[in-house]
Amino acid sequence: SSWFDQARFIPPDAIFALTAQYLADTCPQKVNLGQGTYRDAHGHPWVLPSVNKARETLLARGLNHEYLPILGLADFREATAKLVLGSDLFTVQRSRVATCQSLSGTGSLHLAGLLLRACHDRPPKVYIPSPTWSNHHQVFGSLGFPCDSFKYYDHETRDLDLQSYFAMLDQAEPNSVVILHACAHNPTGCDPSKEQWREIARRMKERQLFPLFDAAYLGFNSGNLDEDAYPIRLFIGEMGMEAGVCVSFAKNMGLYGERVGCFLLATNTTETATNTQSMLEMLQRSEVSNPPGFGAKIASRVLGSDELKQMWYADMVTMSDRIRSMRTALYNHLNTFEQYHVYMADNSRISIAGLNEGNVEYVARSIAEVLR
Ligand code: PMP
Repeated sequence: SSWFDQARFIPPDAIFALTAQYLADTCPQKVNLGQGTYRDAHGHPWVLPSVNKARETLLARGLNHEYLPILGLADFREATAKLVLGSDLFTVQRSRVATCQSLSGTGSLHLAGLLLRACHDRPPKVYIPSPTWSNHHQVFGSLGFPCDSFKYYDHETRDLDLQSYFAMLDQAEPNSVVILHACAHNPTGCDPSKEQWREIARRMKERQLFPLFDAAYLGFNSGNLDEDAYPIRLFIGEMGMEAGVCVSFAKNMGLYGERVGCFLLATNTTETATNTQSMLEMLQRSEVSNPPGFGAKIASRVLGSDELKQMWYADMVTMSDRIRSMRTALYNHLNTFEQYHVYMADNSRISIAGLNEGNVEYVARSIAEVLR
């Protein structure tokens, strides 16, 4: 017998398993559309020029490998809060914001969960949109939160299901948490409009629901970080709500493997900010102790230099432009490929008798290309 007789086999994460299959495939035409990592026009990973320059400067100046403080690099935390809130709101909110460097976006969500759990007698309910990023249920479920899904997207109308969204907000238990994708909703890519965000914020405030933003794609969506941060600034600034923001620099700085993130909590009072930050420090100490330094130092340099920050804003435009142009090209190609001169009933019934030696391959190719 073993201490671990109760261990059961958990299948590997589907996306990462897919990448393993892709890597094992020897076909030169292979294409990986599974894992969400940016690739350049040649299909290669892209080190952002701004990041490259920051890295070179860091290395040229000499880099040591000392521990970072438990809360992470102070300059990085402050620069992140300023970036996400914008300078005006940052100036106003500064003393009421708690920050803690995290293991990228995932670690930030986890820290948010630890803090929310530690601050309530029993873990509040967490409302998660459906569909959503594959890890949300695991992160909050594994911390013991009761998780509820709500319908976010309507496959019929191919749009946000605002009615279901509002119905959830109107019925949710007060003091529950709602996970909000700040922009570039994963996996639908469908975000609320500014007006819809205002209505969501209004209802959440009225119902005393806590907004927890998953901000994994700021600047990566529209190419303009300030535009993508709109809902965060709306909830915290205009609406004066407390909110958590789980920031990741994986995508927008291409720092995937360096695990650069930050949890930011906007509170109502300086005292709450001081207290929650001290709790974040304790929670981080028991699990991570000192967050990784290299990526945070790079990000901090990019954010702390006007020149590098400008370069970075241009890099985000490069990435989002390439993605947008590929989306258009894919759409156009699909439209041309769809135009096969094959006539069949909508329910897929085909009369085999209509096939002959001369057309059978053409029909097979058209079906394969449309279906695959
Ligand atoms: N949230 C969403 C919606 C994501 O898509 C991702 C990455 N795929 C993350 C969070 C976290 O990523 P990371 O931990 O690498 O920052």
